[in-house]
Amino acid sequence: MGFFDKLKQGLSKTRNNFTEKIDNLLKFTRKVDEETLEELEEVLISADVGVNVTQKLMESLREHVKSSRIRSTEDLKAALKEEIKGLFPQQKMSLQPPCILLVVGVNGVGKTTSIGKLAHNFKNRGYKVIMAAGDTFRAAAAEQLDVWGQRSGVDVIRHQEGSDPASVLFDAIQAGKSRRADIIICDTAGRLHTKKNLMEELRKLYRVCQKEYPDAQLLSLMVLDATTGQNALAQARIFKEAVDISGIVLTKLDGTARGGIAIAIAQELNIPVWFIGVGEGIDDLQDFNPDEFVDAIL
Ligand code: GDP
Ligand code: GDP
Ligand code: MG
Repeated sequence: MGFFDKLKQGLSKTRNNFTEKIDNLLKFTRKVDEETLEELEEVLISADVGVNVTQKLMESLREHVKSSRIRSTEDLKAALKEEIKGLFPQQKMSLQPPCILLVVGVNGVGKTTSIGKLAHNFKNRGYKVIMAAGDTFRAAAAEQLDVWGQRSGVDVIRHQEGSDPASVLFDAIQAGKSRRADIIICDTAGRLHTKKNLMEELRKLYRVCQKEYPDAQLLSLMVLDATTGQNALAQARIFKEAVDISGIVLTKLDGTARGGIAIAIAQELNIPVWFIGVGEGIDDLQDFNPDEFVDAIL
C-alpha cells in the first residue's frame, strides 16, 4: 500500500465523519447560498474543528466565495480545502544532532508508544538513538520502553521505579555523549492531577539538559490523543505553561472520527503537528504533512 493510501486508511473514521457529511450536503445542494454555508458550518463543528476555528474558517471561506465568485459546490469544496490547508503552521521539524527530544503529555495519550515508534523511525533514517525511561512513576513504563528498544535495536537507559527522572536523563545524556548518539528521546510521567509537581519535574528535566548538554538541540514534543477531541486543547494549554512545546505528536487518529482536532490544534495553539499516530504498530507513526492530511480527510 502506498504512503497516501495508508494515511487515508488510518484516517478513514475522520474521513467518514467529515467528507461524507460534506459530500452529502453538497450533493443535494445545487447552488452555494447562505443555507449551504450554514450547514457546512455545522458539519465542521461536529467534526471537532471547534466553534472558534470554524467561525474563523467560515469567515475566510465566505470572502473566498465572494471574491472568486464561487457558484458550484465542487469549487466550494476546493475552496474549503485551500482555506483549511492555510490554517496550519508550516514549521517542519529540523533535527540538528546531537538532539534531545523531551516527550511530554498526560497519562495514556501514547507517549511511550510514540517514543518506541520514533526511535525505530529515526534509526531507519540512519540516526543513532538512545531512549531514556523518564517515566519512573508509572509501573512498568520502563519495561514497556525496553520492549520497544528490543524491537528496534535501540538502547534504553532506565533506573528503578520511583527514582528521579532527572537522574535518568542525566545518565542518558552521559551515555549519549560516550556512545555518540544523534538523538536522545526521553519519556516522562504524565500526572496532570499534581500539576505543580509535574511542571517542576519538566522544568528540572529542561535544566538538566541545558546544564549537562548545552551543545545539544533541545526539542519538546507534546503528545495529544485525538480521541479526546477538544479536551486535547485544554491539556496542551496547561503544558505550554511549563515548557516551550516545539511540536506535537497527534495519536490514535485511526480510532476516532475526531481528526478535525488537528485543525483546531493548528489554529488555536499555533504549534506544528510533526507526527501522527494511525495505529499501534511500529510503523504506524507518520510524518505529518498538512496538505496530505487535508487531502486524506476531504
Ligand atoms: P502513555 O501513558 O502516554 O505513555 O501512553 P502509552 O504509550 O502507554 O499508550 C496508551 C495506549 O494507547 C496503548 O494501548 C497504545 O497501544 C495506544 N496507542 C498509542 N498510540 C496509538 C495510535 O496511534 N493508535 C492506536 N490505535 N493506539 C495507540
Ligand atoms: P537542580 O535540580 O536544578 O538544582 O540541578 P542539579 O544540578 O541538582 O541536578 C539536577 C538533577 O540531575 C539531579 O536531581 C540529579 O538527579 C541529576 N544529577 C546531577 N548530577 C548527577 C550525577 O552526577 N549523576 C546522576 N546519576 N544524576 C545526576
Ligand atoms: Mg508511558
